[in-house]
Amino acid sequence: MKGNYTFTIIKPTAVRKQKTGQILADIIAGGFRIVAMKQIRLQEHEAQEFYRVHRDKSFYQQLVDFMTSGPIVVAVLEKENAVEEYRKLIGSTDPDQALMGTIRAKYAESLRHNAVHGSDSDENARLEAKFFFSQREIFDGLEFSSLAWDEKKSKNKAPA
Ligand code: ATP
Ligand code: MG
Repeated sequence: MKGNYTFTIIKPTAVRKQKTGQILADIIAGGFRIVAMKQIRLQEHEAQEFYRVHRDKSFYQQLVDFMTSGPIVVAVLEKENAVEEYRKLIGSTDPDQALMGTIRAKYAESLRHNAVHGSDSDENARLEAKFFFSQREIFDGLEFSSLAWDEKKSKNKAPA
């Protein structure tokens, strides 16, 4: 079954250009509910860890430099089939390929400075949300909280 949560980052250039409000309005208009959100600045080691999967790529260091270049907004979003629906809403990684009206087409400067991140699987959405948020910061997503932070309890739960 498809999950109901995804995780997003509004990246440094979009935040610097004061696009946060417009991007959030598009997200809400797209039928997503904001379950958790905050503005932070990543430290180098945090950006390295978050983008670990890309550590062997030629653009890895540029990506880390970019993601630490200024504040970002991180959020957990809820909608049915959230991961897929959100990637549709944001459009292709390269804004030149992104469909008209998508967030990346509207707000991204380039492939490297592409405005937002969206999780690519339910498992990554869970891991990424856990990377940035503590359970008490997700005060309005009960199902998400129980899935993300209470693994031992749910694994050991006695059958009903
Ligand atoms: P994101 O993970 O940010 O949502 P994505 O899943 O569409 O984007 P990934 O392949 O995971 O794309 O790449 C992560 C990020 O690395 C992209 O958002 C982009 O900023 C950057 N990136 C990807 N490919 C390149 C590239 N060829 N050159 C420079 N930067 C790139
Ligand atoms: Mg990705």
